[in-house]
Amino acid sequence: MTFRSEYRSCLAADLGPDQAGRRVRLAGWVARVRDLGGISFFDLRDGSGLVQVVVDPAEVPESSGLRMEFCVAVEGTLRPRPEGTENPDMETGALEVAADRLEVLSRSASLPFMIDDRSDADEQVRLRHRYLDLRRPRMAANLRARSRCIRAIRQTLDGLGFLDVETPTLVNSTPEGARDFLVPSRIRQGHFYALPQSPQLFKQMLMMAGVERYYQIARCYRDEDTRADRQVEFTQLDLEGSFWGRDEVFAAVEQAAAAVVKSLRGADLPLPLPRLTYQEAMARYGTDKPDLRFGMEIADLGEVFAGTGFRGFAGVLEAGGVVRGINIGARHLSRADLDGLVDRAKALGAAGLVWAVVQEGGGLRSPVAKFFSEAETDRLIRSLDASPGEVLLVVADREETASHVLGALRLEMGCPDGHDELRFTWVVDFPMFDRTEQGGLTPSHHPFTAPVSIDQMRERPAEAAAQAYDLVLNGSELGSGSVRIHDSDIQRAVFGILGISGEEAESRFGWFLEALRYGTPPHAGFAIGIDRLVAILQNESSIREVIPFPKTQSGADPLTTAPTRVAADQLRDLGIDLTAETRISLGEGSGGIGTPGKA
Ligand code: ASP
Repeated sequence: MTFRSEYRSCLAADLGPDQAGRRVRLAGWVARVRDLGGISFFDLRDGSGLVQVVVDPAEVPESSGLRMEFCVAVEGTLRPRPEGTENPDMETGALEVAADRLEVLSRSASLPFMIDDRSDADEQVRLRHRYLDLRRPRMAANLRARSRCIRAIRQTLDGLGFLDVETPTLVNSTPEGARDFLVPSRIRQGHFYALPQSPQLFKQMLMMAGVERYYQIARCYRDEDTRADRQVEFTQLDLEGSFWGRDEVFAAVEQAAAAVVKSLRGADLPLPLPRLTYQEAMARYGTDKPDLRFGMEIADLGEVFAGTGFRGFAGVLEAGGVVRGINIGARHLSRADLDGLVDRAKALGAAGLVWAVVQEGGGLRSPVAKFFSEAETDRLIRSLDASPGEVLLVVADREETASHVLGALRLEMGCPDGHDELRFTWVVDFPMFDRTEQGGLTPSHHPFTAPVSIDQMRERPAEAAAQAYDLVLNGSELGSGSVRIHDSDIQRAVFGILGISGEEAESRFGWFLEALRYGTPPHAGFAIGIDRLVAILQNESSIREVIPFPKTQSGADPLTTAPTRVAADQLRDLGIDLTAETRISLGEGSGGIGTPGKA
């Protein structure tokens, strides 16, 4: 009864059919008002649920003129609804409160959209009035789920002896591969803090500090350009352990994930979670975040077509490329649909796509069937485990292209809607570095990740494998982590491979390189995106649905209007002047410091 107050004696969810006759006081919002023959019926919604209230405005004058979303307190007697008027879709649908007192605590202006789960208001409008949007039952359930998720994580990790440590949010830049948000220092003009992209270096320093198991529900910031379903500000479960390798990290993360799944879905997550190597994931699913809810695996057809007379494939194989395919199952696709798939493959970057439909009796219907020998046709059908009526898609190209295109087609053709089934997998043994467009190397995770072999990294860095791993759920990357470098010479070597000179490393990370020199324990860790995890478990397609006050894809907040312009003297205090270009783009002259914007 912690919700009891002068306004209420109980919550809607406390009311059960056995309580008929009980006097109750309830407070909440008016959802759905109906006037029937002079009597008002409305659903009263509070933080726990809904209950129907019946009131006669002739007896309770305060109840006349009730409108949606008025905030009210009522007092009355709980009684069973008349037979035939029960609502089986409502928890309290067998009951109603016959109110003999009602107080309007505050009135509501007319609503910009209906407060129910069926309303499909434009997202800008929903975000502009997020406080109303969050009253919708689905959104309220998402908020509760998020809270339960974080509670389950905390309980699990507290139970495993982790220490919850806060790290600062005005920091020096942390390289995670994105752009930093900068915060100007007023006291040291011309100097800037960065908002953390992650607590990476602080958690490593906590290991150096002897905190052997750390976690934090950490807010992180990445100033990325608009990308599908990312937020510039997001929440991670960040953790790290000393004297740990990959298996210990996996065990802790798996226990936390299982507790969250249990809490939000009521299901037992079978542990340990499966593991795939990066190479396997790329070869079988064409992506490093495979969706394992369905098969349709990519098969390598190099042996099927070794020595083929079909020039289209032979040329690619001779040039070191690959021939790979998927079986998208029995589908009724017209010639135009099949040709549409060829166009789609080209749009994804392939030079072309061969489609083939398996015929009764074993042959293929395909524009190129006549170029395949009988043995090739048989081997192709067997390699893709195909039956009559099934459609095969084959790409001959460079390995990355074939893998990417078939991986994308596999998802487009096979991905189930919704997230009822949960398929987690670890992806392990990522490469240490990726190639940049300029031909240099960039960390595939971040530069503090340990290589599998130091010698291999020094000799052939482009091929080196990292002790880095991701956790994937239903085709979405939930998080990443790695075993860290705990030796300052190796850390320097990695910076060197990344083209960061000794001098630059010293000026940017000298403090961290120094910290590594005082008996750093071996350590490893991980970070999981809480927003994505809750979104998937709540069957939401966007993380914005599970973030209380999210920003739009362009990083704006339609509710508070952030980011806003600031007053000229605020900029002057910070020693900041807007460039002439910026002033012109803001529609101002180019003279003078700052902007006359609102404070
Ligand atoms: N700091 C990493 C990230 O935010 C995670 C980790 O390596 O623990 O992606």
